[in-house]
Amino acid sequence: MKHDLRPECASDYMDPDALRALQLARLQETVRRCHERVPLFRQRMDKRGLAPDDIHSLDDLARLPFTDKNDLRDTYPYGLFAEPMSNIVRIHASSGTTGKPIVVGYTREDLGVWSEVMMRSFIMAGMDEHDVLQNAYGYGLFTGGLGAHGGSERLGSTVIPISGGNSERQMLVLKDFGVTAICCTPSYFIHLIEHIKETGVPLSELKLRVGIFGAEPWSDAMRAYIQREAGIRAHDIYGLTEIIGPGVGIECREQNGLHIFEDHFLMEIVDPDTGAVLPDGAEGELVITTLTKKAFPMVRYRTHDITAIMPGRCACGRTLRRIRRIRSRCDDMMIIRGVNVFPSQIEAALLSVESTLPHYQIILTRKGGLDQMEVRVEVTKEMFGDRVSELEAMRKRLAHAIEHTTGLRIPVILAEPHTIARSEGKAKRVIDRRAECAEIP
Ligand code: ADP
Ligand code: ZN
Repeated sequence: MKHDLRPECASDYMDPDALRALQLARLQETVRRCHERVPLFRQRMDKRGLAPDDIHSLDDLARLPFTDKNDLRDTYPYGLFAEPMSNIVRIHASSGTTGKPIVVGYTREDLGVWSEVMMRSFIMAGMDEHDVLQNAYGYGLFTGGLGAHGGSERLGSTVIPISGGNSERQMLVLKDFGVTAICCTPSYFIHLIEHIKETGVPLSELKLRVGIFGAEPWSDAMRAYIQREAGIRAHDIYGLTEIIGPGVGIECREQNGLHIFEDHFLMEIVDPDTGAVLPDGAEGELVITTLTKKAFPMVRYRTHDITAIMPGRCACGRTLRRIRRIRSRCDDMMIIRGVNVFPSQIEAALLSVESTLPHYQIILTRKGGLDQMEVRVEVTKEMFGDRVSELEAMRKRLAHAIEHTTGLRIPVILAEPHTIARSEGKAKRVIDRRAECAEIP
């Protein structure tokens, strides 16, 4: 069977007007459900003098209150659930950077939606039931592992639930089990590539042909590196625990923006400062409303992720609209000497210079009340064998590349291979030492 012809994939190609009508009906249903069952939401609606019946069009979405991470913390653990615990069949949690975790729940139906969007994601990335998927996302409370697992089983591909970590075993499986597809964070995959190269097994001998990478921002330069080194196609997948987990959107074969599964997730782009809705094409914060979730519906969730809705149709023929790849979150913007800088800009600049490895760290400190930035990047063994003058020239090239992208002169430190910590999950690119730099005025 042609996979695109599976009934669930029909929504990928839905007539845009029909899709909008479907979204409106589902939005109205979600608002009604939240108003009836989630006290925090009802109070906020009441305060605005809004009733569920006031939602007549998709434009009325803008009248609804936002939800953000603090609301999840304030109602920890189950305060935003819209179903009794007897109907909740699964809990997941994301660590969150500070304090208590974010806790979400799923009904059996919700798990069905999740495996559907993950299955459609895999299909969009060109997979089918003949694929053998090494699922190196972490299993457990995180959504990555079990999310991808459900999608693969629904697709009918063979899932190897290896979870994250243990690179030796990952390599063994990759080599011996006939793996054709892998999913994990992009940073973990480059770590695996490095490992494999060291063992002397040519990557070209592997059957691996496609990678589905997400959970953290990665640049086009990083993609080029992965595709070149591993000889695979690398697709960017996006999702977040609060909305469902992975499977909110993914790149198709065009690799030009991520299609969002709009029949389940309604997207808006807003100005992160004012909350005003921005038109298609404008860059801003992605806000998502779930349209089919039962246990944990979210209305206008502020993702903090910065992107834009891409205008126009995709060449692949799908009508689902696309977002640009997420290069950053509004909360990981750094302000250095008054200039806004994102880690992804540094990454792109570093990878534009030859002989660097995609392992880097940004170190933030504070001096004289001002934030300072320093960049450490690994360079190849060969480079380190070279003369000091060459290393110095390399350092200058890197500093120049960063200045070219950001307009800032940032000190660059060259590190030997393997000296920057590797991560099995999301990479920690920014080391924030600003608090340790408290100065006596
Ligand atoms: P997950 O375990 O699915 O990554 P989390 O809730 O821990 O879910 O993290 C979600 C956040 O991770 C997103 O809000 C976003 O900032 C980041 N993220 C996820 N996928 C991507 C991606 N493809 N590109 C950039 N950032 C991503
Ligand atoms: Zn497409």
